[in-house]
Formats: sequence, structure tokens, C-alpha cells
Amino acid sequence: MLRIGCHLSSSKGFYSMAETAVQIGANTFQFFTRNPRGGAAKEWKEQDIAAMLELFAQKDIAYPLAHAPYTLNACAKDESIREFAFNTMREDLDKLESIPGAMYNFHPGSHVQQGAETGIELIADQLNRILKPEQSTIVLLETMAGKGSEVGRTFEELRTIINKTLCSDKVGVCLDTCHVWDGGYDIVNRLDEVLEEFDAVIGLDKLRAIHLNDSMNGPGSHKDRHAKIGQGNIGLEVFQNIVNHPKLRHLPFYLETPNELDGYQQEIALLRSLCGS
Ligand code: FE
Ligand code: FE
Ligand code: ZN
Repeated sequence: MLRIGCHLSSSKGFYSMAETAVQIGANTFQFFTRNPRGGAAKEWKEQDIAAMLELFAQKDIAYPLAHAPYTLNACAKDESIREFAFNTMREDLDKLESIPGAMYNFHPGSHVQQGAETGIELIADQLNRILKPEQSTIVLLETMAGKGSEVGRTFEELRTIINKTLCSDKVGVCLDTCHVWDGGYDIVNRLDEVLEEFDAVIGLDKLRAIHLNDSMNGPGSHKDRHAKIGQGNIGLEVFQNIVNHPKLRHLPFYLETPNELDGYQQEIALLRSLCGS
């Protein structure tokens, strides 16, 4: 069965997210660990998590994906911003150990005129100070559109970060369809070649999650503006190919399209109908 869900608000807690997922036909979901643009995190209640895990078991929900706040920049020029990134990721990962099977997705960062090489060093350095061999949570680097000085637009940059990370078995990649398209990978005309390139550079075994988003812009636009599925420049047929692809269909898929819950429910039903599950 297709493992698909969408980004959900975490404001009402964990059990509420799992309930919402069930209501809209999802069997996975993504959430922010804290305010995406701010800092302080709410307390995670043990009972709330236990109730969520019970519903997971009943309804076959799996792979909740925690998304780090957008303000987390492990390769910022400003040391205080890097320190915020370090503290945030360490705290988030500590807490996530209470949710078995959860993954943690973050944007590698923006190097802000320091150059990609320095950016990559700083990101790997942060991961090396945080990741522990005994942790259960897999940390995902998200493929980026290449807006501004974003690190992680190319598969090579992501590979280099992984190579420099000591606990590299705890690191995977989340492929965002809008981002790779905006970043210059032509998944519309050359999906198989792009996946072959991913395999050659990073290794498909590192691919652990897919963000399903259509794009308001053209290939290589470096814009990062998501569109509803089938209403952007990527188009419905490509999403049909993606969710049915033998190299991808086992992965969890997360929608981050501009939708309210009813829109997500429709997109989930649409994608399920395209692969008969
Ligand atoms: Fe993201
Ligand atoms: Fe994304
Ligand atoms: Zn995006």
C-alpha cells in the first residue's frame, strides 16, 4: 500500500496529528518540531506520544517525519545562528528518540558568501558533534532548489556532506520533487536518468523519503515555490510515474503542497488512485 501523507500542524499535539492523518486517508505525515520560523519548542507529552503510537499500530501509520525549523542554518556565517542550529537539532533528536521509526529532515543550510565548500564543512561538523552511533532516528538532508546560497542543490554536495559525517549510517536524503526540478534536474523528461544519477552519486539506499510537490516555476529556476499536484510545471503524469516507480514506490511520500486538509485529502486519494492503493 502506498505510504503517503502530508505536512500537518503540530499545534494540537501528536495524537491529534495521527487522528487527522487517519481522517484524510494518510498513513504517514510530516510535522514541524517547533515553530518553523522561531525558536522555543513546546514540551512533548509522554502520554500524548503513547496515544499516538497506539493509533499508529491500529491504523498502520508509520515514518512520521519531523521537519526542523527553516531558521536552522548549520552553515550560517554568524556563530550565534550556528549555535541555535546546533542546540535545536540536538534537542530535537534527543526528543525524537521517544518516537520509534521517526525520521528528522532538515535543510542543509545557506552558506551566505562563505562558499559551498565551507558550508559543507560546517554542516558535517555539526552532524559530527550531534549524531551518536546508538541513536535510532535517521537524519535526512533535503535536496534544495538552490535559492540564494543554499547548500544541497546538487547530489554531489549532499554526497560530500555524507562522506564527511562519521555516523554516516544515520544520514539519509529526502528528495523534494519541486526542489530538484527547480534545482535543474529534469524529472519531467528524464526521471530515470535523474534516479540513475542519484544512485551513482549518493546511492539509492540513502534515499529515505520523498516530498511530493509540483512547482510553480520552470526547471533550473532556483525559486522553490510549491504548486498543487498536477497544477504546476511538473504535471500529474510525472507524479504517477514517481509513486509507481519500482525504485521509489516503497518509500514514504509527503505532500507539502499549498492546501488545507480537504485539498490534501483529495491529493492523497488522487495519488492512491493512480497506483491502485
Ligand atoms: Fe523542507
Ligand atoms: Fe520539502
Ligand atoms: Zn520547498
